[in-house]
Amino acid sequence: MKKVLVAGGGGFIGGWLVKELILKGYQVSAVDIKPLSEWYQVFPEAQNSSLDLSLIDNCTQSTEGINEIYNLAADMGGMGFIENNKAACMLTVLINTHLLMAAKLNDVSRFFFASSACVYNAEKQNKSLIEPLKEEDAYPAMPEDGYGWEKLFSERMCRHFYEDYGLETRVARYHNVYGPNGTWEGGREKAPAALARKVAEAKLSKSNVINIWGDGEQTRSFTYIKDCIEGTIKLMESDIREPLNIGSDEMVSINGLAKFIEEIAGIKLNPDYDLSAPKGVRGRNSDNTKILELLNWQPKISLKEGLTETYQWIEQEVSKRLTLKN
Ligand code: NAD
Repeated sequence: MKKVLVAGGGGFIGGWLVKELILKGYQVSAVDIKPLSEWYQVFPEAQNSSLDLSLIDNCTQSTEGINEIYNLAADMGGMGFIENNKAACMLTVLINTHLLMAAKLNDVSRFFFASSACVYNAEKQNKSLIEPLKEEDAYPAMPEDGYGWEKLFSERMCRHFYEDYGLETRVARYHNVYGPNGTWEGGREKAPAALARKVAEAKLSKSNVINIWGDGEQTRSFTYIKDCIEGTIKLMESDIREPLNIGSDEMVSINGLAKFIEEIAGIKLNPDYDLSAPKGVRGRNSDNTKILELLNWQPKISLKEGLTETYQWIEQEVSKRLTLKN
């Protein structure tokens, strides 16, 4: 039976990946720095450990007897976190570096690295209506400061571990992944979860205002978690060694996203724009030509469908929190 390590298994994408890999019949080991009580999902069928994977000894120990590693571990969050914690984001380089070294030492056969659309050159993302980003748009390099530089460097290290040591590496550039069982409060949440929380709070407290970062005309595409997991496993199992976008190409503005969520919640809110809040690049979308050509696959779940499931989960979480407070 294949033995698989999911680094960052207590996080959002890691948790869903552990679930899917167990369903596929693999023997899964999940590792995360957080105590087990803080993991988003815990599966008793997996071997679960709380360890800091920025330390080489913990990486060596966790990869003993492992056939494949999925590295989803990172100190990260949405724009509000990565714009204000650049050093912390760059220190994540220790996790991927030490996991690669441990993979080589322990003869692991395959290694997946979760990269990001934040590696793309900022100059190609300076308008709301932009061309979708192709894989080659990462160079010449001018990624998101901090977080994006760490991702680009780690992608490159994966490539050289293959070229120099023969370790099979796979790299996905995720575009804004969202869904239930993710971060929805606390400062690390991303736009879909943050807006869903704000809409749910407004609905439950009968307010008619929603705070929006920037002027709301910045654009993105959002990838539902089920598509992300399907694409991740397909890429890992393929023979594609170059980085590939795993992202929806359904582009929407932040104002559009807020309206979508309000419709799902059945309310209408007035936007209160915070122009001093972190905004990230002006426009971003995924070009899926390459993944379609190489894997004959691309994300298929519509924003409406994914947001409906996500909003319902977040509204439940918000009302649980309100009940606890009262
Ligand atoms: P997440 O924060 O929910 O999960 C990351 C997990 O890594 C957390 O549970 C965290 O505790 C763990 N971690 C952090 N430092 C660690 C350490 N030193 N040792 C062990 N575990 C550690 O984030 P996510 O959304 O699940 O993201 C997973 C991966 O995908 C990350 O690499 C992230 O950069 C990448 N990514 C995510 C998105 C997205 O939209 N969610 C987009 C692009 C890339």
